[in-house]
Amino acid sequence: MASKSDYDAIIVGAGIGGLTTGCLLAKTGHRVLILEQHFKVGGFVTSYQRKHYPMDVVHAIGGLSKGAAIDRIFSFLNLYDRLCFNEIEKVFIYRFPECNIDCYTSITRYQDELKRHFPDQSSSVEQIFTDERYTGTTEGGWYDIDCSPRQANLGRIRNKTPINGLYLTGAKTYPGSGMFGSIQAGLFTADSILNGCLTRGRNLLVYG
Ligand SMILES: Cc1cc2nc3c(=O)[nH]c(=O)nc-3n(C[C@H](O)[C@H](O)[C@H](O)COP(=O)(O)OP(=O)(O)OC[C@H]3O[C@@H](n4cnc5c(N)ncnc54)[C@H](O)[C@@H]3O)c2cc1C
Repeated sequence: MASKSDYDAIIVGAGIGGLTTGCLLAKTGHRVLILEQHFKVGGFVTSYQRKHYPMDVVHAIGGLSKGAAIDRIFSFLNLYDRLCFNEIEKVFIYRFPECNIDCYTSITRYQDELKRHFPDQSSSVEQIFTDERYTGTTEGGWYDIDCSPRQANLGRIRNKTPINGLYLTGAKTYPGSGMFGSIQAGLFTADSILNGCLTRGRNLLVYG
């Protein structure tokens, strides 16, 4: 029977945050146990079938352009031979009775689209935009931002807790939000556990 001392880290929950932390610790030679209550790993990053229809829960992730935040982590973990992504032009289309508004993945295109629909508010579109300002996720990160700006980014729960050896990871922790933020949180947590070893020399962090 396995004992606590068989592992360097025990992670509760195999969501994308816990998985990222676990994979980074394992990749750097640590013995990791990930415990998941569900029969599948992934948390919200999952899919299921209803009758003949396969259903994806999540549909888009930012930060995958070459050298961007998530690309660096996935490359470090050698995941690209097992993952395949399709680039998308639009994250959403907002449908209103009067018009449809395209939410482009390109922030400048999205701003142009908003200005086209709301020409009298052009300067506001420039000024208040956007998730990027609130979350610091320059590459995207559209989900889990239902919290107030006060709770975003630096306002989020820190990855290292005051309890010795207890760390937190995932969407609700720093820097949080969506797959992008949860994977980043996974990195921040692993880096915190490893006293900055993932930051030093490996160039994995793009902001912090
Ligand atoms: C419908 C929907 C669509 C979304 N679409 C997108 C999208 O397109 N793009 C995007 O970037 N983000 C999207 N998101 C947000 C994104 O999926 C989440 O922010 C992210 O997956 C959260 O990851 P996490 O690791 O923090 O937590 P979770 O995914 O919640 O994982 C937590 C895991 O821990 C397990 N767990 C909890 N308690 C215990 C316990 N006591 N013991 C064992 N296991 C436990 C749970 O079973 C779960 O597997 C979407 C979210 C939803 C709900």
